[in-house]
Amino acid sequence: MRVTAVGTSGGVPTPQYGTSCLHLNAFGDEILLDCGEGSAQRLMRYDASPDVDAVVLTHFHADHTLGIPGLLQALEMNERERPLDIHVPKGRTERARRLIEGAYGWPSYTVAVRGYDDDPVIQTDRYSVRAFETPYTEYSYGICLREADERTFLVERAQALGVDPGPEYGKLQDGQSVETDDGTVVEPDDVLSDPEPGRKIVYTGDTRPTPGVIDAASNSTLLIYNAMFADDRSERAHATGHSTAGEAGRVASESESERLWLTHISPRHEGEEDRLEAEAGESFEGTVTAVRDGDSIAL
Ligand SMILES: [Zn+2]
Repeated sequence: MRVTAVGTSGGVPTPQYGTSCLHLNAFGDEILLDCGEGSAQRLMRYDASPDVDAVVLTHFHADHTLGIPGLLQALEMNERERPLDIHVPKGRTERARRLIEGAYGWPSYTVAVRGYDDDPVIQTDRYSVRAFETPYTEYSYGICLREADERTFLVERAQALGVDPGPEYGKLQDGQSVETDDGTVVEPDDVLSDPEPGRKIVYTGDTRPTPGVIDAASNSTLLIYNAMFADDRSERAHATGHSTAGEAGRVASESESERLWLTHISPRHEGEEDRLEAEAGESFEGTVTAVRDGDSIAL
């Protein structure tokens, strides 16, 4: 899996940095989380094609949504034919349709606006994407991508039980029991390891650091958290429903996340990324990066 920060500026773009957008490559599926203005152009700049499979929006503020019409038009010019899913909070499907109709119109390929709440937003054999509520605005969510738990096939144990190598192995891995030559029934649990938790990527969107958010972020491989302000502006963070870098560090620490990305950084802190990282690092011992557009990590 790979995660690329496409837009990292909080609230408004700056000459250098765009507003919120993340690009995920999950086992070949390409997903955007939020789509601030100019995201299509920045995706091209950072070698992450705008020809994505799905977009998931956390809430309907302009710094997270305005890139949608431009993205749709760019894909039309690319002669896209396959459908595009745009997942939005269930209470915001009408607003999403108006955004598309008002700014560009419906392209010739199918765009499906899908409302999500607590159900999986996307579910595949390899991973799931789920949303969790955040106390920011009406209908605001964070997003969790979780890789499916893995069970290793224990060849030595299968051999000891007398299972012939070949199709029988495949059946056991698929969850079916098999019978050996001497009539012994072997169950999948006999030859599969205990489930090992898959990797977990959590993007909080805009939020205050609440127990619910910490719970949703628990044991993240990568936590991507809004750190709009440095700690000396905590009153402002509180008043606007955002968080400080220090609060980001505490959420990462309390959720026992492995790695923290700070994003949605206020233009006033541009050039102060080291300071934000240091403030987050006061309570979090894992790796902290105040990411800027184009930063990328393979997990
Ligand atoms: Zn925002």
